[in-house]
Amino acid sequence: MADTSAAAGSGYSFVDHKFDVVVVGAGGAGLRATLGMAEQGLKTACITKVFPTRSHTVAAQGGIAASLQNMGPDSWQWHMYDTVKGSDWLGDVDAMEYLAREAPAAVYELEHYGVPFSRTEEGKIYQRPFGGHMMNFGDGPPVQRTCAAADRTGHAILHTLYGQSVKHHAQFFVEYFALDLITDPDGTVTGVVAWNLDDGTIHRFAAKMVVLATGGYGRSYFSATSAHTCTGDGGGMASRAGLPLQDMEFVQFHPTGIYGAGCLITEGARGEGGYLVNSEGERFMERYAPSAKDLASRDVVSRCMTMEIREGRGVGKNKDHIFLHLDHLDPAVLAERLPGISESARIFAGVDVTREPIPVLPTVHYNMGGIPTNYWGEVLNPTAEEPDRIHPGLMAVGEAGCASVHGANRLGSNSLIDLVVFGRAAAIRAGAVIDRESAVPTPDKASLDKIMTRFDRIRYADGSTPTAVLREKMQRAMQEDAAVFRTEESLQQGVRRMKAIWDEMKDIKVFDRSMIWNSDLVETLELENLMINAMATVVGAEARHESRGAHAHEDYPSRDDQNWRVHTLSWVKPDGEVPLAYRPVHVEPLLKQEDGGIDLAKIAPKARVY
Ligand SMILES: Cc1cc2nc3c(=O)[nH]c(=O)nc-3n(C[C@H](O)[C@H](O)[C@H](O)COP(=O)(O)OP(=O)(O)OC[C@H]3O[C@@H](n4cnc5c(N)ncnc54)[C@H](O)[C@@H]3O)c2cc1C
Repeated sequence: MADTSAAAGSGYSFVDHKFDVVVVGAGGAGLRATLGMAEQGLKTACITKVFPTRSHTVAAQGGIAASLQNMGPDSWQWHMYDTVKGSDWLGDVDAMEYLAREAPAAVYELEHYGVPFSRTEEGKIYQRPFGGHMMNFGDGPPVQRTCAAADRTGHAILHTLYGQSVKHHAQFFVEYFALDLITDPDGTVTGVVAWNLDDGTIHRFAAKMVVLATGGYGRSYFSATSAHTCTGDGGGMASRAGLPLQDMEFVQFHPTGIYGAGCLITEGARGEGGYLVNSEGERFMERYAPSAKDLASRDVVSRCMTMEIREGRGVGKNKDHIFLHLDHLDPAVLAERLPGISESARIFAGVDVTREPIPVLPTVHYNMGGIPTNYWGEVLNPTAEEPDRIHPGLMAVGEAGCASVHGANRLGSNSLIDLVVFGRAAAIRAGAVIDRESAVPTPDKASLDKIMTRFDRIRYADGSTPTAVLREKMQRAMQEDAAVFRTEESLQQGVRRMKAIWDEMKDIKVFDRSMIWNSDLVETLELENLMINAMATVVGAEARHESRGAHAHEDYPSRDDQNWRVHTLSWVKPDGEVPLAYRPVHVEPLLKQEDGGIDLAKIAPKARVY
């Protein structure tokens, strides 16, 4: 299958592979893309640094949104409206329409692939209410739209998609760490270089199309619900290839991370009737969001919790968190619908949910920003004249990408549906644009040399700062200065601190130089990727002088559509400088109203109240 050849100029020899498509990442997005490519007979490789079913998607609890109407009236237009409003009018309208329209078919497809969804009495897919999902174009009441396999929906989806991908003969390269994109002198992506963690070999994957599906970068913050592997490697690779990242300042805090441990209690807990109280025993969400209450969207609930704590109504010894009550619910419902979170609460908070409230705190959960793409997953490299310019050879899907369907704030259960809808869309597109007859491109030597020179710089880094020390510094700076509430002062300080931390990368020390299972080196490579994502986040946030979705700026408390209904583009340079530019939001739908599309007047920007 593979022949080896020496890499001139460095001490490494390469194992060579040729594929039509190489997908980096085996979470829900990567697997759905891999499956779709393989189904069409494209020769497809999937590279993943962890075993596929250990990807962070496995941890998704609450469910996947689609307007199936199994539990009451719903429509894709209502789902689209909620997504537009949830995005605080920053999402791209064409992409959001595509998501809402394709969602029901995508969920039935998962059902047919074998996902064991929970069922209603009549045997239909069970759906629960979730934050920000409403009937009647936001007027309410909450709609039951989120399809669930108990509270282990991501687990069910991931295992099913992995099985299907293997069945269709996709080739998996498991525990391979992708280092960088191979590019031609004109920038075209022609493959990826990866390090086999198990035997220390370096692999050169030449391909007609590379798909980045590497997930989010939650671990650039100190407290996050995401796995330790969520280190934004795709954003790092794209930045090093000279491409911009988009809307990175929008970081979602989930209202209910377990206090102290950070692990997630799904919004499905509130969907099933759970509610939040402050130290006075008050259900305070009724005061802030009279209609949606505890099911207002995540940015809103996280801010309200933070305000209660700031005003002295937090619970616990230090009055620094909030209680989530499930103890009024029928224990049989808890056992059937929320078994996983009952277990998490017991293990991580020492709480029996049938008797006591769970201590919770807003915790970093999701990255709305990422590598900019159109709704086919094709990566964009915008210029002022051509804001939708497609970059050849590269796609991005899932949390690593930014299509942008979540805009400034993602609705719960809209990520899992994003993974499968856009994973599938990328496969359809690749099937159309890849020329099966043409030869797989030959990797450019200068590009390979650059990749291995960087690898060696990190492998032999001999400063005095251990990786874990610098990582914690970065995580604390981000947690403190780019948090739920932001001010001019906190963000300027964040930029200064992050620039100083960036410079400390020069003093990093890697203790282990070996090539086999070298976790020190893996973590240092990941730290460099995290740092790129974190820089883009804090610089983009400092520059955005308004409040929108997850970006709550106390010195600019209102949304400013006149000046700021634009996507931020950030190019993170090797010296840590981050020039910014902006590109217009797509406001045109795909379907005209007379052809069954949404009434544009319905989705015109207005104040966002729940
Ligand atoms: C605790 C938790 C609960 C959630 N619950 C829900 C929910 O109920 N509903 C919902 O809609 N959303 C939920 N979300 C969000 C959603 O689960 C994630 O956004 C989504 O799973 C991300 O999927 P992904 O395929 O983009 O990436 P991931 O699942 O994170 O997978 C990333 C993949 O990339 C690979 N990779 C990364 N870097 C490299 C590299 N350098 N080399 C090789 N491989 C690499 C990894 O091995 C992995 O396979 C939840 C998130 C969390 C953290």
